Formats: sequence, C-alpha cells, structure tokens
Amino acid sequence: MFARRMDRVRQAMATQGVDMLLLSVGPDLPWLIGYEAMPLERLTMLVVPADGQATLVIPGFEVPRVVERGDLFTIRGWGETEDPIAIVADLTGAAGTLAVGDHTWARFVIDLQHAKADARWVRSTGVTAALRAVKEPEEIERLQKAADGVDRVAAALHAGEIPLVGRTEADVSAELSRRILAEGHVRVNFAIVASGPNAASPHHHASDRVIQPGEVVLCDFGGVTAEPHGEPGYCSDITRCVYTGPVPAEFQEAYDALQAAQAQAVAAAVVGTPAEAVDKVARDRLAQAGLAEYFIHRLGHGIGVEEHEDPYLVSGNGAPLEPGNAFSIEPGFYIPNRWGARLEDIVVATEQGPLALNRANHDLVVVDA
Ligand code: ZN
Ligand code: ZN
Ligand code: ZN
Repeated sequence: MFARRMDRVRQAMATQGVDMLLLSVGPDLPWLIGYEAMPLERLTMLVVPADGQATLVIPGFEVPRVVERGDLFTIRGWGETEDPIAIVADLTGAAGTLAVGDHTWARFVIDLQHAKADARWVRSTGVTAALRAVKEPEEIERLQKAADGVDRVAAALHAGEIPLVGRTEADVSAELSRRILAEGHVRVNFAIVASGPNAASPHHHASDRVIQPGEVVLCDFGGVTAEPHGEPGYCSDITRCVYTGPVPAEFQEAYDALQAAQAQAVAAAVVGTPAEAVDKVARDRLAQAGLAEYFIHRLGHGIGVEEHEDPYLVSGNGAPLEPGNAFSIEPGFYIPNRWGARLEDIVVATEQGPLALNRANHDLVVVDA
C-alpha cells in the first residue's frame, strides 16, 4: 500500500517539476508512510527526493514510535543540541523546487525558506491532494468501518439511549464522544450538539445550554478510526437531527424538503458529474421549499485521513467526480434565532453508482428522552 503511494507521489512530483517533498505534521505524512508526526516544537519532517531514498528526520527519542519501513525511508534521529533545519536543508541538496506540507508550522517553513533562499517553494497539495482524493479499496473499507461506528452512535441517539432533555449540550457532546471512542475510533474530531435556536449555527460549539422538551437537537459528530500501529486512521462524519417531543408541522415540512434534497443529491453523485452540479441538486430542491437563502454553506467536502479534503462539492468546482472520490453530502437550513437542521452522510462515487457509507435512519426521529 505505502510503496504504491510513494510511487504515485514520485510520478506526480515528476509531472509537476517538484524536486523535493517535505512533509511534517498533518495528514499527508501518515497517508504516505503511516507515521503521524507529533505536533510539537521539535521538528519531524519526511524529506522525499524525486528519486532516491526518502529520509525521516525526527527527534531522536521519538524514533521508537516509528514503524520502520526500510524500503521506503531511512530514519535520521536528531539529538537535542542538533539543528534539524540544517539537517533538512542539507538533505535537500541542490533541489530547485521544494513542496512543503500544508499543515507544516510556519516557524519551520520560514526557517527552511531562510536556509534555502534560492529554492522555489510550493504547497504539497499540488502533489498529494489529487492522489488522496481517489481512494483505494483498503481506504474505502476503513471509511466504511468509520461510518459503521458512528452509525451505531446515531442508532443509540434515535433509540433514546442518550438522554437529552434536562442535560446540557456539552454533557451530551461528551457522551457522544465517549461512544465514538467505544465504536472503533481512536480520536474524536468533533461532537457538535446544537439545540433549539442553536441549531441555526452550523458549527455551533456545544454549550452549557440545557436541552428543553419540544425542540430540535442537531448532532454532527466524527472521529478517526483506530488502526494497527503504523497505519493511518480514516475519518467519520455524520449529522442527524432528533426532536424532543411532537414536531411542529412547519418544521416537519422543512425537514422533509431537506431529506428529499439530501437523497436526491446522493443519487446525483454519479461518476462524471461535476461536483458543483451535485451541490445544485440539493440547493434547487431546498429552493422549492423556500429554504434556498437558509442553506448557507457548500454541500460537502472530501474525507479520508483528513476530515475535510478534496473534492469539495461547491459552486465553482466543475471537476467531474471520479471513481474512488469519498465526500460528505450535507445540506442544511439555518433560520437565525429560531431553528435549523442538517442531514449528512459520507458517500463514495463508484463505477456502479453512488455508495452511501452511512445508513442510520434519515428521518427526523422523535425522542422523548
Ligand atoms: Zn462542518
Ligand atoms: Zn459533519
Ligand atoms: Zn461534514
């Protein structure tokens, strides 16, 4: 798996005239070699020349964390008094064009740019994003495992196993997080719980607001799957809404339009369809219900080792969907100071048609928990 990825990376580097790829914290590194850099002030950096052996420059005492893959990279542990910037600069030799990972800390990028003042600097995205956006079968399996895990948490929510009324959003968020971890995840990326008027804020921060009877509770949660040591985890991301009591007709009507918009967008996510056309399907359906102005974000984002990555389903992205693209389809409506809702699944575009990885009930379930 990793050897094949390294080959594809080197091909992309050659096509794009990149002499050296430099990866530190962030998702490119675990995707490429299975190792996740510690997000700390001591530099970890994989130096990948267009040809020749790659080197992982890493704090010496973190070497035991690395699963060695001698065919892919050499390990260069550095001592506490050594200068890792100088080590990386030295390894890059006379390289003219250096691509650096998007998530690399500015302090390292700026120091490296000073050390290699004559080089041309570009983002690693040009090399890795298009490759990461097309999932291999093993990656789709892990995304399915991730989706199955959060589907079970959503089922517990629907079944009323997670008490809501009388609890704070933060408390429910903490319970969702515990359940995500219990369902095969090693990390929780977010667990949004937005009740009543808070549901009108798409990225609401779970607060100390106490959930009331007779209101919507929007839950959007996901994490990263636990995988064998030295292999990358993949992300889950799901949104379901429940109602704590009888649903007002007006809200039910809006939710029905949302559910139809989401289902129609999933069905439209066919290989070859421009990403923005899928966004438009959902937007047009919501417009029919008079909700167009309340759908204030793009339809979806790619997902893989990173929660949000290419491809983005948004107006302006005319790139056709490719087999192996994995992305969210998450239309919503948000009516300020009143209420809101969103419905989200992860979907893979395949030659056989759109494959929805999340199968938890899509209805607005009434819970009197
Ligand atoms: Zn979001
Ligand atoms: Zn989400
Ligand atoms: Zn999402």
